[in-house]
Amino acid sequence: LVELTGVNKHFGDLHVLRDINLTVRKGEVLVVVGPSGSGKSTLCRAINRLETIDEGAIRVDGKPLPAEGRGLARLRADVGMVFQSFNLFAHKTVLDNVTLGPRKVRRSSRKAADDEALALLRRVGVEDQARKMPAQLSGGQQQRVAIARALAMHPKVMLFDEPTSALDPEMVNEVLDAMVALAKEGMTMIVVTHEMGFARKAADRVVFMADGQIVEEADPDTFFTAPTSERAKDFLSKIL
Ligand code: ATP
Ligand code: MG
Repeated sequence: LVELTGVNKHFGDLHVLRDINLTVRKGEVLVVVGPSGSGKSTLCRAINRLETIDEGAIRVDGKPLPAEGRGLARLRADVGMVFQSFNLFAHKTVLDNVTLGPRKVRRSSRKAADDEALALLRRVGVEDQARKMPAQLSGGQQQRVAIARALAMHPKVMLFDEPTSALDPEMVNEVLDAMVALAKEGMTMIVVTHEMGFARKAADRVVFMADGQIVEEADPDTFFTAPTSERAKDFLSKIL
């Protein structure tokens, strides 16, 4: 469903993505780990075309990424993204945050968009917050709204870039639980996280990045208990 071949990206002199070859199948949950600065966020942003690449190709559902216009809007709908910071529209209600995309891009009616948004908010356990403003919600609740907002666009794949790292510890699990449920429902997911519990429960595969390269790829049990590369061993000794 998502296919990267020979992807290279530089920021000036810095080679941030080096010959990345990666395929994520439909329904697969891929967890990406690696030290700070290894290129994990850049990889996610490239798949959503928030960053351009210098070399190589990225395909979503068999199609090369559109550069602009309506195709790009469609891509952003197909590839849902949830960031570390929740990025909700501060001056809109929770419900409006979720319905805005469907009404603008998918041209849903207000009634249809509201009904679906409420169902999505229920799915992530924040339906009772629908009429509030984002600032009135906890971080964990806001992040679940951000997930519902992405799902409202009927994405083919969801990207999560350290979705729980800005949260207070007691709110981490409510967000991870929503993500595990989504994974169980068969959503294709690429998740940058160091949450081993999530990886163990939901990941089909773990990719370890260092210095812009994919250094190691394994199932979660193998990766976390028996990494093969020195870089991965060193990394795990610091986070576990
Ligand atoms: P972290 O775990 O800290 O989030 P990361 O693996 O997500 O790190 P990236 O954010 O992808 O890493 O950054 C990879 C490298 O590219 C870093 O050295 C970073 O400083 C650099 N970088 C990222 N964005 C830009 C930019 N817009 N301009 C210049 N350099 C950038
Ligand atoms: Mg990052």
